[in-house]
Formats: sequence, structure tokens, C-alpha cells
Amino acid sequence: MTQQKTHNKAAVKADAILVINCGSSSVKFSLIRPLSGETLLSGLAECLLSSAAEITIKHHGKKQSYKLTAPFNHQAALAVLVEQLQQSNLVKDISAIGHRVVHGGEQYSEPTLLNPQVEQAIGELAKLAPLHNPANLNGIKACQQAFADLPQVAVFDTAFHQSMPEKAYIYGLPYSLYKEHGIRRYGFHGTSHYFVAKQAAKYLNKPLEQCNLISAHLGNGCSVAVIKNGESVDTSMGMTPGEGVLMGTRCGDIDAGIIFHLVDNLGYSINEVDKLVNKESGLLGVSGLSNDCRTLEDAMLTDNNAQAKLAMTVFCYRIAKSIASYSASLTQLDGLIFTGGIGENSTWVRTEIVKQLGLLNFSLDEEKNQATRFGASGNIADKNSRSCWVIATNEEWVIAEQSAQLLANAAK
Ligand code: ADP
Repeated sequence: MTQQKTHNKAAVKADAILVINCGSSSVKFSLIRPLSGETLLSGLAECLLSSAAEITIKHHGKKQSYKLTAPFNHQAALAVLVEQLQQSNLVKDISAIGHRVVHGGEQYSEPTLLNPQVEQAIGELAKLAPLHNPANLNGIKACQQAFADLPQVAVFDTAFHQSMPEKAYIYGLPYSLYKEHGIRRYGFHGTSHYFVAKQAAKYLNKPLEQCNLISAHLGNGCSVAVIKNGESVDTSMGMTPGEGVLMGTRCGDIDAGIIFHLVDNLGYSINEVDKLVNKESGLLGVSGLSNDCRTLEDAMLTDNNAQAKLAMTVFCYRIAKSIASYSASLTQLDGLIFTGGIGENSTWVRTEIVKQLGLLNFSLDEEKNQATRFGASGNIADKNSRSCWVIATNEEWVIAEQSAQLLANAAK
């Protein structure tokens, strides 16, 4: 209780949130003013747990990198971050830490103040997100050491999709697997889909609760979501981020029979199959060249590389099919949103996807398409088309906003 009171006072006094996104060998961080979205400082620690570990911090437009010292871990990275925040006189501005947590299961549909029970639940949910939740928890523990006086909030990547109806989240498996083991569709990238939907509502000049949208988040991981009256009602990722469309290195939907064939007849171990479908497939697997959209565009457009063209074509067709399938969830559609590194930048991908969506009355204005890249946002649709926006996502801002909101409500 005493600790809660201290936290509330801190929230009222200071006005920036430190947003932390921890991976197994990386930490992304941004210090953000929740009301304006202004980023005061940001950066990335990479190659953690190896001697190549380093941290890069961007402040006042200048980037500076520092080599980390042993044990090269998340704590070592945060120690450098704290030192830099102190030197820049920014520590006093921080009112809370907002953590991106990948899997919140069915328990968490809202941002949540971290405490030992919530941390335990995040740990238990690691069975559904073995790559992500332990890394998130590691970041939470490191921040508790580095910022012992500050409240810590978890914002879950699955939370926005908790509004999905049963018909969208139940697999065609025995129901007992859902009831007893939580095997259902959860969806991810929720914070990003929510942010771009909110931005689209501003373009439409109506409340989000009145908007019907399809959003395609295309980065290294890719997912499509359908938003009805402001709420997610279906999305392409499932119990794990592996389901759905083709991605950088993940295969997305495949016939489950392929896995049995690989194991029973082709000598794969289950770990090898895991690596194959998550790390060696998708754009990388089909092209045999790269998971990076820029490399594949270059290879296909400059060198006429047929394999790169095939990978990009399959990628776009699968996304177009996924978007079209969501007409089953809606009776009205205000528009389509592209976001994520590929969605925000690749004019080729946007053209290729939208040209397959004529039946839904989408077509692009190529001039606007070419002009809307590298952080620019706007409607790239032809004048006869339904709206089609490119919207630069900002998950960090949502995490900062939701953390600040939670603490403000708690202080009331
Ligand atoms: P993550 O899911 O890791 O956050 P990003 O959202 O940053 O990934 O997206 C990474 C993808 O965006 C890569 O495939 C990269 O090639 C692609 N990308 C970035 N810039 C461009 C560009 N100018 N043209 C085409 N693709 C781009």
C-alpha cells in the first residue's frame, strides 16, 4: 500500500514513461511523453549475452554507442541506460516504466500494474510464448533493480484481440484442449493494430467505436486484423505468432500433415521442424536469398531474380487473400491500413496486394503510393476507391499512453 502511494505521487509529479521492449538478446527503449508522443531519448541494446553486446542511445538527434561489459546481459544494458539518463538529467522526468509483454493469455485484456502475482502469471504464460514471455520477464526484473522506486506496467500484445468472438478464436480441435490448456487463437501486434486504427479514425473524423477497418501490419512478423466498431474481431496470428500469412522467416499457415511427413519420413526432429517453420521459411525460405523485403525487391527488380519474385508474389497473394477473407466479419468497411516496415515503405508490395482487391473496391493512386513512404502517412487510394491509408505505427506511444492512464486512474 505504501509502495502504491509512492507510485501514485511519482505519476503525478513526472510526465514521461520509459517504454521497454525486451527480446532474448535485445532491449529497445524509448522515453516518451504520453500526451504528445514526444520521444526524449530512445535506443537499442543488441547482441546481449555475447561479448559483442552494445547499446546505442539517441538523444537530441545524436546517436552514441557503448560496448557493454561482462556479463553482457539486460542488467548491464540498463545500467548504461540509467547512467545516461542521469547524465542527461532525465531520471526525474520518469513517472513509470511501461513494458511490452507479448502474451497476456485470456487473463489480460487491459494494461496491468506489475506485482508478484502478475509476474507469476506472465511466467506461466511462457508455455504459450516460450521465446517472448521469459525475455519480457527478464526485462521487468532488470528494470525493478534499476528503477526500484518506479511503478512498472505491462501492456500486452494480445490484449487488443481479446474482443474476438468465440467463432474467431476457437480452433477445430477438441474443445477440451481450449478449456483445459488454453489452446485457442490469441493474436498479436495488438498495440500496433490499435494505434493505426485510432489514427484512421482521425482521418475518418469519427470515433474509433464507429470505424470498420482492416489493418495489415507487415514487418518481419506480419499479421492482418479486422476491426469492427473499433474492436478487433479477428486476426491472422493464432495461439503463437506463427499462424497466418507468410512472414520474413515464418511460413504462416501450412497443412499440419507436412510436420508429420517431415518427422516420420524425412528424418527431422521436432526441434528442427520448429527452426524450419519459424526461422528458415517465409520470404527467406521461398527466395533462398533473404528475409529482407528490400533485398528481395532489389533482386527481383534489378537482377530479375525469379526466386525472389516468387517469394514476394506468394507473400502478397497470401496477404490479399487474408484481407479479402475478412469481408466475412463485416457489413461495412471504411478502409484498409498498411503499417510496419514493409507496409510503410514498400510501394511494390502495396500495389501488388491492392491490385488483387478490386472486388472489395480498392485501387491505388500510384503517385500517392510512391510519395507515402519513410515515415509519411496518408490516404493512397484512387479517388474511386475505398480509403487505403499508410500509417506509421507507434507502439511505444500507445504503451506510454496506456501506462500513464492506468497510473492516473489508480491515483484517483
Ligand atoms: P519488426 O517486425 O522487426 O519490427 P519492421 O517493422 O522494422 O520489423 O520491418 C522490417 C521489414 O521492413 C524488413 O523486411 C525490411 O526489408 C522492410 N523495409 C524497411 N524499409 C523498407 C523499404 N524502404 N522498402 C521496402 N521494405 C522495407
